[in-house]
Amino acid sequence: MIIFEQIFKMKKYLLFIALSAVAFTAKANCDNVKPFTVVVDRGHDSVDQGAIVDSESEYEILSSLVAQLTGEVKDNLNVIYHNPTGVQLTIDERAAQINALKPDLVISVHMGSSKNGPRQAAIVLNDKNSSFERSQEYAVKLINHLAQDSYFSTVRTEITGVALLEKINAPAFMLEIGNMNAKRDRYYLQTNGAKRVSVNFTAFLNELN
Ligand SMILES: [Zn+2]
Repeated sequence: MIIFEQIFKMKKYLLFIALSAVAFTAKANCDNVKPFTVVVDRGHDSVDQGAIVDSESEYEILSSLVAQLTGEVKDNLNVIYHNPTGVQLTIDERAAQINALKPDLVISVHMGSSKNGPRQAAIVLNDKNSSFERSQEYAVKLINHLAQDSYFSTVRTEITGVALLEKINAPAFMLEIGNMNAKRDRYYLQTNGAKRVSVNFTAFLNELN
């Protein structure tokens, strides 16, 4: 009886060891997965505030929007909001700071400033970026998600020579959301639009990696 008891206890002990080993291996596997780092760069800073229309600045609207942009993301995603306090930076300083974060994807968020036009978002790429093709692949994913918001009648892409994108050593694009010259867009992004954009942006992030 005593022997049985000991064997039984030993079995329980062994089972405990076995389970701990499984738990440890699972954790070790998790720790080995390199997180996917997305750097969100809000266009402009407290000195260069971008477009200013009816005493509303692109910088202020985007600061608030970008701060709400990311909802709950998967554990292996690391989202960094670059320069949240809006320190004035040159393009080279901005690029150097972002590259030091070793990002897997960089998204620079701006608002458009066309004269008029549809309610649109745009993805702006630069074909001189060293990861141009992967930038395009990520851009397509983001477009698919942003198009879920019926507010935006178009989500278009364009390729221009945006200097920052060329200096980033990772896939990168600019997201131009709404139009500073359209009062309705400024209003939308400062009211219920911020939440809608955030839901779609977060779904996009969770599809990465
Ligand atoms: Zn801008």
